[in-house]
Amino acid sequence: MAKDAGSAGQPTVYISARGAARLEAGHPWVFKSDIKDSGSVQNGEVVRVAIRRRAGGEKLFGQAFFSSQSIITLRLISGDERPCDRHFWRERLQVALDGRRLIGGEDEAGRLVFAEADGLPGLIVDRYGPALSIQTLCAGAERLKDLWLELLEELLQPRAVVERNDTASRRLEGLEERAGLLRGVLGGPLTVRLGGLMRQVDLLQGQKTGAYLDQRENYLRAARLARGRCLDVFSYQGGFGLALARAGAAEVTLVDQSEKSLGLAARDAELNRLEVRTQAGNAFDLLHRWQKEGEKFDLIVLDPPAFAKNRTAVEAAQRGYKEINLRAMKLLQAGGVLVSCSCSHHMQEPLFEKMLLDAAQDAGRTLQILERRGAAADHPERLGFPESRYLKCFIMRVLD
Ligand code: SAH
Repeated sequence: MAKDAGSAGQPTVYISARGAARLEAGHPWVFKSDIKDSGSVQNGEVVRVAIRRRAGGEKLFGQAFFSSQSIITLRLISGDERPCDRHFWRERLQVALDGRRLIGGEDEAGRLVFAEADGLPGLIVDRYGPALSIQTLCAGAERLKDLWLELLEELLQPRAVVERNDTASRRLEGLEERAGLLRGVLGGPLTVRLGGLMRQVDLLQGQKTGAYLDQRENYLRAARLARGRCLDVFSYQGGFGLALARAGAAEVTLVDQSEKSLGLAARDAELNRLEVRTQAGNAFDLLHRWQKEGEKFDLIVLDPPAFAKNRTAVEAAQRGYKEINLRAMKLLQAGGVLVSCSCSHHMQEPLFEKMLLDAAQDAGRTLQILERRGAAADHPERLGFPESRYLKCFIMRVLD
C-alpha cells in the first residue's frame, strides 16, 4: 500500500537510490527495477514520486504517470506538487504550441507535441493542415486522452482529429493497438505543402502519424547537393527523392519493398510535375545487384527502418546498417554524396559513426562528414533524455 498519501490524497510511489540518481541526472523515467513501493496504484494514475530518507521522512521528486505493465514504470510530469488538472495541462499544451510558433516555417504539417521532450509524457500531436494526428503511448497518456482532446480542440479548432495508436510500443504498456477518427470529419487523404512540394497524406493509413515529419528538414539539406544520378533507398513516399528531383537531379530512383508506398510516391511526383523512377524490391539485394553490374551514382540516401528495436538487437542491426552503407559507398562516384540515416535510438551516434567508418574501410573509401543532422526542429530534444535524440542523418562526401 502507498502509505504516505500526498496532500491531495494522491498516492506516492517510492523509488530506489538508483532511480533517484536517474531523475537527478535529468532523465524523466524510472524503471520497474527501481521501484521500492508502489502500493495499490492504478495503471495510468498520476502519482507523487519520492525516496524514503534513512533518517525518516521522504524527499519528493515530483509527479509522474504510473504504468503497471511497462518496464518504464514512471514518467516524470513535473518536479513539484501542483495539481495536474485541466489548467495545468492546458498550460503545458500552450507552451508546446508557443515553441512551434517560435520555430516558425512554411510547412503546413509538423509536430506540435513531442511527448516527454515537451513535458507531456507519451503524447504525440502532429498537425497536417486542418487535421491533427495523435498518439497516446503510455497508460497515463491514454487515461488523459479525452481531456487532452478537449484542450486541443479548444486551442487549435482542428477540422478532424485521428488517433494513430496502432503502434507496437503500446502493447508494452498493456494498451491495445488502435487507429481511427476521434473527432470531426476527414474525408480521405489530405494534401499539404511540405518543403515546397504538395504531398498527399493519408492520416489513417500512412506510416507513423501519416508521414515522416522528422526527416523533412533533411530532405531540403540533401536537395542542396542534388545532381546527376540519385538513389533514394527505403524511400517510402519519396520524401528525399522528390526533393532531389525538384532540386534538379538528372535521374532519381526510389527504392522500397512496398509497391504501395512507391505508388503513393509516383502519385505525388505527378502532382508536382516531377519525374522519378521507382524500383520495388529488397534494398539489400538491389544494392548488391547494382554493385555487381558496375552501376555508379552521384548521391545515395539510405533511410532504413529501425533495425534495432531494442538493446539486444543492436548487434544484428549494426551488421544490417553496415551492409547497406558499405554497398552504397561502393556505388558512389568519387565526390559522390551519401546521406545515411538511422532512426533507432539504440544505435547511438558514436556507434553509428563507428559503423560508418567500418563500412568505409571495408569499401576502401575515404569519406568526409559535411553535416551531422537529426530530426526537424519541431522534434526538440529534452536535455538529459537521449531517447528524444533518436534520428541521425549524416551527410557525407566520398573523397576518393
Ligand atoms: N525515407 C522515408 C521513410 C522510410 S521508412 C521518408 O522520408 O518518408 C522505411 C521504409 O523502408 C518503409 O517504407 C519500408 O517499406 C521500407 N523497407 C523496409 N525494409 C526494406 C527492405 N529490406 N528493402 C526495401 N525497403 C524496405
